Amino acid sequence: MGMRRLQAFKFELRPDGYQQRQMRCFAGACRFVYNRALALQKARYEQGEKRLGYAGLCKLLTEWRHNQETAWLADAPVHPLQQALKDLERAYANFFAKRADFPRFKKKGQSDSFRYPDPKQIKLDQGNSRIFLPKLGWLRYRNSREVLGEVRNVTVSQSCGKWFMSIQTEREVEPPIPKGGAVGIDMGIARFVTLSDGTFYAPLNSFKRHEKALRKAHQALSRKVKFSNNWRKAKARIQRIHARIGNARRDFLHKISTTISQNHAVVCIEDLQVRNMSKSAAGSAEAPGKNVRAKSGLNKSILDQGWFEFRRQLDYKLAWNSGWLVKVPPQNTSRTCPACGHVSADNRKTQERFACIECGFEENADVVGAINVLRAGHARFACEVSGIPPAAGTHRSDLGVALCHA
Ligand SMILES: [Zn+2]
Repeated sequence: MGMRRLQAFKFELRPDGYQQRQMRCFAGACRFVYNRALALQKARYEQGEKRLGYAGLCKLLTEWRHNQETAWLADAPVHPLQQALKDLERAYANFFAKRADFPRFKKKGQSDSFRYPDPKQIKLDQGNSRIFLPKLGWLRYRNSREVLGEVRNVTVSQSCGKWFMSIQTEREVEPPIPKGGAVGIDMGIARFVTLSDGTFYAPLNSFKRHEKALRKAHQALSRKVKFSNNWRKAKARIQRIHARIGNARRDFLHKISTTISQNHAVVCIEDLQVRNMSKSAAGSAEAPGKNVRAKSGLNKSILDQGWFEFRRQLDYKLAWNSGWLVKVPPQNTSRTCPACGHVSADNRKTQERFACIECGFEENADVVGAINVLRAGHARFACEVSGIPPAAGTHRSDLGVALCHA
């Protein structure tokens, strides 16, 4: 029995001068369309009108492309412009699902990108290290690895003055038989991830070093004359540090999510809202965070993005291995004794230590959290396998495949 595997392959592009100018224009046009649509939706909301759907926005886009004032939009390929509207739809959906903040206007130089969604218009010539994209023609790229599967879409993006493309493909693969049993996960500040078997992964400390470099770079920028050459150089330096932080975080998250997904068939995780997690990082009134300063600012945003991205990676990597991510509601996982079941806030005297006031059981508090998550996950998993509809919030990566191996 095969399964579909989606994978992204990223390459650096080698555009000529004309193509570079075109790509800058296309990214600008997509940003313009996104921002204009967002402004429109905001205005409609303020006037008490309903948000326009994707079809309605596409109609408007056609008008803009024909309007004399914004006729330059017609120079950009139409599909990527429509994709910008799709992105806005998704940003709204993420906001309503509490996965993200309210959509913000895009600024120039911030994640400049555009996406070609139609594989029929894309030609990939791997033998000659080139790709054909509408209105750009044949583009050379640094061919560092073989692209496997059928091309579904291509995203072009700019970062630190270089252009990249990410080719999303789809292919049939044999489902591997998942190894290992079930495990529970607790995510936190002091320990990024703790497993119910006691394994844990510390947060990536190199962020501290980057944070220092970033602070220095910002200070240097503030001393430069705005828009001078040196100011631009200082600004580019800040972007490079941000890119380095992003790379370090991606490596870190990929290593952990790969290890966990390869060694476990079922992974149980608390269904926390990412936003709530950042709140708990600052500590509550009764238990203020020990290290509030370190958890604020850059660190906090890194943790926030890290948690969200980590769960996303776990989900799809488990699916590749025919595993299963089970999300459980966060109820008393930090206050329940795994030995006797006694629930009390007093069981957790400090952030690190769990000591049951009823039976005396002692263990690291994060491990206890992970054990309780695993228990809750077991209960939920049993329901799903026996055909009882799962409660809201439970997520199945691939029911058909997982059932065969459960
Ligand atoms: Zn107990």
